[in-house]
Amino acid sequence: MKISRIRVFQVDLPMKEGSYSWSTQSFSAFDSTVVLIDTDEGLTGVGESCPLGPSYLAAYAEGVRTGVSILAPDLIGEDPTQLDRINLKMDQLLKGHPYVKSAIDMACWDLLGKATGMPVYQLLGGKLQERVKLFKVVARADPGLMAEHFVEYRELGFNHFQIKVGESPDSDIERFRRIIEVMEPTDVVDADANTGWKQHEALRVVNAASQMLKERQLSCFIEQPCLSYEECLAVRQHTDLPFILDECMDGLSILLRGYQDNAMDLINLKINRMGGLTRARQVRDLCINLGIVMTIEDSWGGEIATAAIAHLAQSTPGAFHFQSSAFHEYASVAIAEGGPIVADGYMTAPTQPGLGVTPLIDMLGAPVFEIA
Ligand code: MG
Repeated sequence: MKISRIRVFQVDLPMKEGSYSWSTQSFSAFDSTVVLIDTDEGLTGVGESCPLGPSYLAAYAEGVRTGVSILAPDLIGEDPTQLDRINLKMDQLLKGHPYVKSAIDMACWDLLGKATGMPVYQLLGGKLQERVKLFKVVARADPGLMAEHFVEYRELGFNHFQIKVGESPDSDIERFRRIIEVMEPTDVVDADANTGWKQHEALRVVNAASQMLKERQLSCFIEQPCLSYEECLAVRQHTDLPFILDECMDGLSILLRGYQDNAMDLINLKINRMGGLTRARQVRDLCINLGIVMTIEDSWGGEIATAAIAHLAQSTPGAFHFQSSAFHEYASVAIAEGGPIVADGYMTAPTQPGLGVTPLIDMLGAPVFEIA
């Protein structure tokens, strides 16, 4: 099989709730890129990469499209089912920029599945979980409103929550206070600061939260309090609350360093920060071998990226999978049919060959560019 054409589409994913806020950032929509890879055998693969705005990670939406325009001409004629060969070629053509390569890698996995008649979860090791535990993000807002949302989401069937903090120590301590008041022992809560605190601020907030939690005999995960690995490690060493590293976990070497330093209990594995399913799978498998539990997700996306999350999570042993995100549930538009089915706080990956999603071409509009 040979790649005959690569088409690139831009689509906006507006937020159902009007906006999505975390740390000090807020957006009403996210700019996503969908890549369709056509082949000489008539099969088409689909991938998606959606950075969470231009200032969350070192990634931006226009960069996905520019990056793909640099890679695509040299991928024409390549066999998309030879995943490591495709990734090696992309690394030779463009240094870094994993979020660019993720959309192409994802589309190649879709093609491998379609060519072999197997869903991607099967190619990634098999169905090790019947369904994927979801968390619901309680976006940063006024502390009282966040507590109201928390209770509403629990009534929808969720019991895993990620509360967005990281704005400022005083407002965040108030957020903890209001959320802890409505928490129940069966709730699993992860307070994600998304790098928003300086080290001294993180120590202050985490100590205050820890005290309030102890008074109610509850616990809460702390996720990526500060920007650097070193700051996070210092905070980790001063708290007994379970700890998740996310933004700084961008490859195998930092994962191994974190393991050696006992810097975290869990990591957050994002597909496009690793460069696609090929590299995310390597990290996933190493985590399983080291005993590190994972939140498995992506930066953002619609049905296509969420399907990739569901396939990767469903092929991960339940004991090593903490939770995932169903991003397509947050958007007011659909960009593909057949996305993961969400029910009772869980999602299930499509069972059709490949990712199992069909892009809605009318929704995607005309390609931004195509290379054949
Ligand atoms: Mg996070």
